[in-house]
Amino acid sequence: MTEGVERVAAKLATTDRPFTGVTVDALSPRIDEIDLDRPLHDTTAVLDELEDVYLRDAVYFHHPRYLAHLNCPVVIPALLGEAVLSAVNSSLDTWDQSAGGTLIERKLVDWTARRIGLGPAADGVFTSGGTQSNLQALLLAREEAKTESLAKLRVFASEVSHFSVQKSAKLLGLGPDAVVPIPVDHDKRLRTVALARELERCTGAGLVPMAVVATAGTTDFGSIDPLPEIAELCERYGTWMHVDAAYGCGLLASLKHRNRIDGIERADSVTVDYHKSFFQPVSSSAVLVRDAATLRHATYHAEYLNPRRMVTERIPNQVDKSLQTTRRFDALKLWMTLRVMGADGIGRLFDEVCDLAAEGFELLSADPRFEVVVAPSLSTLVFRYVPAAVTDPAETDRANLYARKALFASGDAVVAGTKVAGRHYLKFTLLNPETTTADIAAVLDLIAGHAEQYLGESLDRAS
Ligand SMILES: *Cc1c(COP(=O)(O)O)cnc(C)c1O
Repeated sequence: MTEGVERVAAKLATTDRPFTGVTVDALSPRIDEIDLDRPLHDTTAVLDELEDVYLRDAVYFHHPRYLAHLNCPVVIPALLGEAVLSAVNSSLDTWDQSAGGTLIERKLVDWTARRIGLGPAADGVFTSGGTQSNLQALLLAREEAKTESLAKLRVFASEVSHFSVQKSAKLLGLGPDAVVPIPVDHDKRLRTVALARELERCTGAGLVPMAVVATAGTTDFGSIDPLPEIAELCERYGTWMHVDAAYGCGLLASLKHRNRIDGIERADSVTVDYHKSFFQPVSSSAVLVRDAATLRHATYHAEYLNPRRMVTERIPNQVDKSLQTTRRFDALKLWMTLRVMGADGIGRLFDEVCDLAAEGFELLSADPRFEVVVAPSLSTLVFRYVPAAVTDPAETDRANLYARKALFASGDAVVAGTKVAGRHYLKFTLLNPETTTADIAAVLDLIAGHAEQYLGESLDRAS
């Protein structure tokens, strides 16, 4: 164990790039040739092999030039929690498989619900991720909806909401048109005027508004939907308000920007991903609800696990509230983090990356080589290289796609991509407090260099 930890620590201390640029074709044979039926019986030899098949070419989120997806470098107290929870291997489904683990998880649920401001009847449970949290929240909303007809149910979410909303609707047996996409404004926030119009249109047509999903931190733009106005509309139409704060939940610990999610306290349910903006290792996530009683929609009893009588005996079985059965004690990671660093420690880290994004926005806005979509509400920047001489938008698309691929292949930095209004853009997701504005400037130069190289070769091809 110690040798393994030391090797990983040494690796993290010496990686000079977020990625080696290894290709699928180069890596596959190395893994293919290993015969799983012929063990090495020697941990040191296996660690050497692991270097070859995984560690050397892994994608390293702790590197300051990994700027791609919603992945974070992890705080050390959480890593300690991870080691302890795996070694003890508690399962959080029932009290008789976890004891103190159950109480620790419940305390962290209460802590999170209090930070949100959900009120005295709030409850929740840890989940495997935002996708599962959104699914469970929408399950509760479906069960609370005032109709028997699944075909009549409608869920309203902005056109830039997370795709797990659609996946959940499908899993919940709703119709193919169940999710009504609501247009966003210039800042990529759900337009409440459009939401009001759709709610009115649907109820007028005899349909049942089952839930509005407000996104507090969209995956691409970090934009935060107008929560107080959405809460008003949900109240008026008697609709479940779910806030998907998978990304924006970091603001719950922020010392500077907490007000950006004001209104979240009016939600019926909230998704939080500690493994995004609380710097926790995957997995660590939760779904919170305003009214604990609504969690009964996920309750089933089994004689072999959580017989009904245990409820009257007041034995706390978290499986009564969860879609999972056997479940990791992920809460321990957050517990260790809060006990060692405190919430302010986390909030300061998240504030740093939000401030870094604001500085990155200034850099991009002042740079004629680039165009940036919106000023950041959290820590993402969506932008693209715009060649001065090119008028064909398809050529600009190809230059940006090429630059992203070439950068990935070089391993010098990793950035993400997305589409805005049908055109290809690049994206920085900034979740590493060790990334500096100098890193951002350097990566922009690399991107411009690759894009210019593509355009130069493209001119040669044409002539
Ligand atoms: C990441 C994300 C999710 C999904 O969370 P996972 O933990 O990846 O399952 C849901 N909603 C939003 C807004 C997200 O950014």
